[in-house]
Amino acid sequence: MPRRVAVLTSGGDAPGMNAAIRTVVRAAIHYNMEPWAIYRGYHGLIRGEMEPFTSRSVSGIIQRGGTILKSARSDKFMTPEGRDEAVAMLKKHDIEALIVIGGDGSFKGALELDKLGINVVGIPATIDNDIACTDYSIGFDTAVNTVLDAVNKIRDTASSHDRVYVVEVMGRHSGHIALYSGLASGADVIIIPEVPCSVKHVCDRIKHANQQGKTYNIVIVAEGAKPEGVEGNFEGPAMAVGKYIKEHTGFETRVTILGHIQRGGTPTMRDRLLASRLAYHAVELVYQGKSGRMVGEVDHVVQSWDLHYALAQEKDINLEYYHLSNILSSL
Ligand code: ATP
Repeated sequence: MPRRVAVLTSGGDAPGMNAAIRTVVRAAIHYNMEPWAIYRGYHGLIRGEMEPFTSRSVSGIIQRGGTILKSARSDKFMTPEGRDEAVAMLKKHDIEALIVIGGDGSFKGALELDKLGINVVGIPATIDNDIACTDYSIGFDTAVNTVLDAVNKIRDTASSHDRVYVVEVMGRHSGHIALYSGLASGADVIIIPEVPCSVKHVCDRIKHANQQGKTYNIVIVAEGAKPEGVEGNFEGPAMAVGKYIKEHTGFETRVTILGHIQRGGTPTMRDRLLASRLAYHAVELVYQGKSGRMVGEVDHVVQSWDLHYALAQEKDINLEYYHLSNILSSL
């Protein structure tokens, strides 16, 4: 059993990270280990921004979004010299094990530390839900609920003015947020990077829906989607999709890009429970002297996976949800 275990948050913040930090600290104490907190991810680790935590250090944070440990990206940690400095800093403070709360980039960094003799365990936390070997990552549920809240409001205006609304949601490489929020908000069309789709098809669906008596439409598009028929170099696809729909259907069309409101906010019950359960298991693994593992929840069972293996897997999109949404919106 390591005497000291440290925890850091890295990459983009996600609601529920604080609930995970709280559990790591209290579970470590439960297992008679000393919890340490590292601020600003690998950046802070290299700079020695760390201190011992007590149970009280994590009081009153379970309901807070963001991360009390702050998060940062570190280019220096991408270099062997930077990682050597990180290891030296951990050794200087007698820290033998590290729990990394973050996304796949953060886990790649953790694996490098594992190679250098530090025991590491990863807890998946990213709103994108793009990490394999867990059904959900911490923060995803809250982000989708934030999108639903926004789309509910947009619907009021869309229906009052008989408009098409194109709503762009986060997901640079994955369409999980768009898919879940699209199905749960009753969107007419969902555009995601994983499923090829043309803007002509989007227009056909909108026209068909209106022939069926619909007077307004919601299109949810993931920021990383590149629908066929949309030209140019653009940051996200929503503006171009909206312009195309307006020109080719004649319907009044508006575009809303939800952006960073999806990252913050009070974590949902699901995210708090997931964070607490995953973090507890991460500490159990550390206590058992395990390293190079990632915790995940699959079919409601918390388990752990070899981190190398997990990073090599593709996270599949739920095509059943995609087809269900298509059926429900075409009637
Ligand atoms: P999100 O999915 O929210 O973006 P992430 O964990 O994938 O989260 P990244 O910015 O990719 O976020 O990674 C966070 C940090 O992890 C980087 O700033 C870098 O210090 C470290 N990191 C990423 N990839 C590697 C790698 N291949 N080797 C070593 N360190 C890495």
